[in-house]
Amino acid sequence: MQPAPPVFRFAPSPNGRLHLGHALSALTNEALARRFGGRLLLRIEDIDLTRCRPELVEGIEADLAWLGIRFEPGFRRQSQHFDDYAGALGRLRRRGLVYPCFCSRQEIRNAVAARETATGQPWPVDPDGAPLYPGSCKGLASDNAAQRIAAGEPYVLRLDMAAALAAAALPLSYTVFDADDARQSVPAAPERWGDVVLARKDVPTSYHLAVTVDDALQGVTHVVRGRDLEAATDVHVLLQHLLGLPTPLYHFHRLLLDDDGQKLAKSRDSQGLADLRADGITATEIRRQLGFA
Ligand code: GLU
Repeated sequence: MQPAPPVFRFAPSPNGRLHLGHALSALTNEALARRFGGRLLLRIEDIDLTRCRPELVEGIEADLAWLGIRFEPGFRRQSQHFDDYAGALGRLRRRGLVYPCFCSRQEIRNAVAARETATGQPWPVDPDGAPLYPGSCKGLASDNAAQRIAAGEPYVLRLDMAAALAAAALPLSYTVFDADDARQSVPAAPERWGDVVLARKDVPTSYHLAVTVDDALQGVTHVVRGRDLEAATDVHVLLQHLLGLPTPLYHFHRLLLDDDGQKLAKSRDSQGLADLRADGITATEIRRQLGFA
């Protein structure tokens, strides 16, 4: 019997049109999938219902078709699968690894400032530079939390990182691969993210939870993503262990930077593929420019 082919996926969030950075990611997925004889899936990560506008999904499909990238027909939209994420969250909750948090951003800032004043030390930040959650709601009595939820107070659900690390088989690691399929094991250190948010009151999941659940449900074996998501992978590896899901192989590709050295992002007016196309640039030129002649 033939072994099952590897499975790759490109998973954009439709909160803007695709730009050159997305093209690099999609083309890297395409090139590696082709090289390893893999399947290539498209997944739309539209859990943020306020930012992900439906017309942008059509735009993304048009941009990818113009680039000439062929995905397997049909694609998964995360907004249609909230039950899957709620199920995974429920399993973590029943194991006591998740707690509700009622803190506003301002309350977190105030708590962090108070601790910095008290200790005279800077408060630790996560790999994205945000202060670690100081744990103010971690010790809330469950009946107090239940009353506040029943009263309609907004909250998020956080992973109890210390409890999660204790529950996971340690030490955590995963394997990276390159274009020649050379593989290397790297350690994962999810504790540097602190008590990450796994769900919000309005959206019963978060990026970390949805991406972990979907990669497993879709049988993804090879995750190809930008270096900006390398540190976040540590959280995904931890969640895979806690949920009994397989850990895919990972490859982190380079990032395209603006002239000022910032990562390309739609919010910073990076040129969208649709704008480039309107300016008469061809898909072949984009492929060549990004090193995929
Ligand atoms: N949806 C994520 C983004 O557009 C990337 C998905 C992933 O590779 O985990 O940044």
